[in-house]
Amino acid sequence: MATDIKPDVRSDVDVVVVGAGFAGLYMLHRLRGLGFSTVVLEGADGVGGTWYWNRYPGARCDIMSVDYSYSFDPELEREWQWSEKYATQPEILAYANHVADRYDLRKDIRFATRVERATWDAGARCWRVRTGTGDEITCRFYVMATGCLSLPKSIDIEGADRFGGDIYYTHHWPHEGVDFTAKRVAVIGSGSSGIQSIPIIARQAAQLTVFQRTPNFSRPALNGPAPQAKLDAFKADRDAYRQAARLSQIGVPAPVTMVGAMQVSEQERRAVYEAAWNSGDLLPTTFADMPTSAVSNETFCEFLREKIRSIVKDPATAEALCPTGYYYGTKRPCLDSGYFETFNLPQVRLVDLRRTPITTITETGIQTTAESMEFDAIVFATGFDAMTGAIVAVDINGRDGLPLKQKWAEGPKTYLGLMTVGFPNCFLITGPGSPSVLSNMMVSIEQHVDWVSEAIDYMRRAGLETIEPTATAEAGWVQHVNDCADITLFPQASSWYMGANVPGKPRVFLPYIGGVDRYRKTCDEVVAQGYLGFCFEGASGVACNDGVIRRLQPDVTIVLEVIESLGLPPVESMSPEAARTLFVALATQRPPGPAVGEIVDGALPGAAGELNYRLYRPATAGPHPVVVYYHGGGWVLGGYDSDDPLCRDLCVRSDSIILSVDYRHAPEARFPAAVDDALAALQWVSFHAKALGGRPGPVAVAGWSAGANLATVACRLARDAGGPPVAGQLLIAPVTDADLTRPSYHENGERYVLTSAIMQWFFDHYVDTAGRADPRVAPLRARDLSNLPPATIVTCEFDPLRDEGAAYAEALAAAGVDVKHIKARGHIHSSLTMVDLVISGAPYREQMGEALRRYASAGRAASLVRAASLV
Ligand code: FAD
Ligand code: NAP
Repeated sequence: MATDIKPDVRSDVDVVVVGAGFAGLYMLHRLRGLGFSTVVLEGADGVGGTWYWNRYPGARCDIMSVDYSYSFDPELEREWQWSEKYATQPEILAYANHVADRYDLRKDIRFATRVERATWDAGARCWRVRTGTGDEITCRFYVMATGCLSLPKSIDIEGADRFGGDIYYTHHWPHEGVDFTAKRVAVIGSGSSGIQSIPIIARQAAQLTVFQRTPNFSRPALNGPAPQAKLDAFKADRDAYRQAARLSQIGVPAPVTMVGAMQVSEQERRAVYEAAWNSGDLLPTTFADMPTSAVSNETFCEFLREKIRSIVKDPATAEALCPTGYYYGTKRPCLDSGYFETFNLPQVRLVDLRRTPITTITETGIQTTAESMEFDAIVFATGFDAMTGAIVAVDINGRDGLPLKQKWAEGPKTYLGLMTVGFPNCFLITGPGSPSVLSNMMVSIEQHVDWVSEAIDYMRRAGLETIEPTATAEAGWVQHVNDCADITLFPQASSWYMGANVPGKPRVFLPYIGGVDRYRKTCDEVVAQGYLGFCFEGASGVACNDGVIRRLQPDVTIVLEVIESLGLPPVESMSPEAARTLFVALATQRPPGPAVGEIVDGALPGAAGELNYRLYRPATAGPHPVVVYYHGGGWVLGGYDSDDPLCRDLCVRSDSIILSVDYRHAPEARFPAAVDDALAALQWVSFHAKALGGRPGPVAVAGWSAGANLATVACRLARDAGGPPVAGQLLIAPVTDADLTRPSYHENGERYVLTSAIMQWFFDHYVDTAGRADPRVAPLRARDLSNLPPATIVTCEFDPLRDEGAAYAEALAAAGVDVKHIKARGHIHSSLTMVDLVISGAPYREQMGEALRRYASAGRAASLVRAASLV
């Protein structure tokens, strides 16, 4: 009988674990060590999971064995020696068996026992687990260690059941092996399993025909002894080595680069790619922007295609083997041993299913749209219903009988990939929403097992009975997982990461792409913050610690980390001169922004002397609408240089001339100098729009931060002066008031680059305290906001200025102005200006460009009406 957590609640065991792969084995070991009674239920009649089932010829790991092994016991590490860099399936299976024996795990594993149903019994606060043999086991905690790649995808090719020859599946290979000598063999599928098995089957078979739907990127594994340098590093300090793996991006210690592919010369780029090709490493370090930049990624794709063309002798076959239509890495890349060379053998043929799809499998072979072929054997290497398949294959019913399959009908929803709302005490090992398949899975398995074990242990010590995430925490995590994926190229591919390989499966990016290191930190932080996002139920009732663990956009987080690592002095401790120098120095480090048609620097008359400007003209045929842009910098810092990437971006997106004009800075020229200059510039540009190559009609204004303040103030002053008319105003994170007490100042005033202290410093330099209520400083305080041009106001969630921007949007709307308020979720004051650096800002920048296009077409329509009325 189990050591029940509460004496009044009884169950057969404390924990049921489903699956005896590497996850289930370690879970059992940990729970047993903590004194929890545990039973593991496994459908196979042996341990090893993946390595029990996938016995096809050539099966081996493609993460180096020294990394792809447990780290929880130094003794185990010392006594097990891997024979080569990438161990074969039999060796990895032998390792799993060794682990099972060494820790005497088998006695708590029921083999040949498939779990069919698991139902939460709310009254008894336990799970009722039903097996294929009809047994029912009750448990306090239910752990799905069922594997990400364990449920094969059903064969979705017409006629497959008609074939009279031999059928083999890579995922369910006969234990006794297969002899293909003198056989005509077809292999369908060219993912990792196909790519590993094809060269070996080709050596045996009389004929081998490979049916390829999507070509894959593959590089030589260069298998052999493990690299000496790696072994030395491992043996010298195992703890440090393992810790480096845990704190790495993918669960393998590897150098990190911040360099983008296009930041180096073509020669240097090729050298990096050659090194990657010759590394025999699945995930060599190349360039930082490989997952995010289509242009950079394509350079590697083309390099790899060249390699294929250089290996495969028949040009048509080579071309058919060249992956196109998706970016490198967005479908799982492969390592091979002579895969492309295999297609030079006379008995091997490639059928490109993109040109001639299979129409049916017949009694004797395979028919495509072009021909009928006869075979003795067909090998299906067609993959898995990945990440969710094995979980929802069990009929899991949570609170109020909610079926998990129903809850996940639109795609899986989890908190941290570990739990899902409505299913108390049910844990997922390497579940969707965790790094799992985007990592060395051994590292991710160990991390999850440790986290779950510690959570259950914590509950026992605290006298708690159930744990379940909150809806807010789960929604926040799902959002974060998507935010991370959305800044990469991954969602563009029809991959199994997206569920795209299984007909009818919702297209959702399944794993967490933020990295093993960040993910681990997040899980640890959740615990450190008192299990943030979880509800616990115990004798004294329910206690929820509701909240969202990651709210910033992932690329904004990285920017903040980089800024912090620079250890810069606070701006408010500097002289304006020193702060300006720093501002310029930081600006030179950014990506330049998109190319535009033409850039012209000039000067225009300000209120008290010349003002420099920079004009950005689109590459499209003109004349273009004109936008006067005012840079940010708290009226103290900046210039047209500082906002250059944003202006380029706005120019391209809005198809407008952006004229970015300087204005006099404080403290040398205090208020109202900047306002006077802003109005003078608006007047001059409006008058000279045509001469500047612009389209006749009212100009629009735009600005960021203090520049947005000047833009809207200039609009109002122009209204009061009877002109010039303004087509619209785009105000990005505007300063609209001088009140530093709003909630957004309290929430965001310290951690997100623009701080309350800096705003105070800006105001002190710009204007006397008495002058801060002047509506030319605080446009929100203007008595009359009616008849102002249509406005688009962008506020950022983690900006001290957020609430005053929102208040200004409301005030304008109340005054009858046409206002669009865009709320940039997860962004800080400056992140929308970081073109090509903060990629998650792009959708908002697109909306800004769209607003300017809208103002331009409205302005054009108005001028046409005016012109028509003159005729
Ligand atoms: P699995 O090993 O899949 O074990 C899950 C177990 O659960 C299985 O034994 C299954 O029978 C059992 N099970 C499932 N459902 C039920 C049920 N309802 N009732 C009872 N039992 C059930 N990852 C890497 O990091 N590096 C690699 O090199 C690598 N190579 C791979 C090669 C292949 C061919 C495949 C398919 C995957 C590979 N992977 C690799 C991923 C691999 O799946 C993981 O590394 C790891 O082995 C997963 O362990 P697991 O215990 O989580 O799941
Ligand atoms: P996979 O990568 O999903 O490949 C399946 C292949 O079958 C793809 O080429 C797919 O084409 C094709 N296919 C599927 N249905 C088809 C159909 N109806 N008609 C024609 N072709 C069809 O599966 P896998 O090779 O088994 O690998 C799965 C994952 O397991 C890998 O990505 C990897 O994570 C892991 N794995 C690792 C290793 C290793 O080297 N260590 C080895 C094997 C597996 P489409 O691409 O067009 O869908």
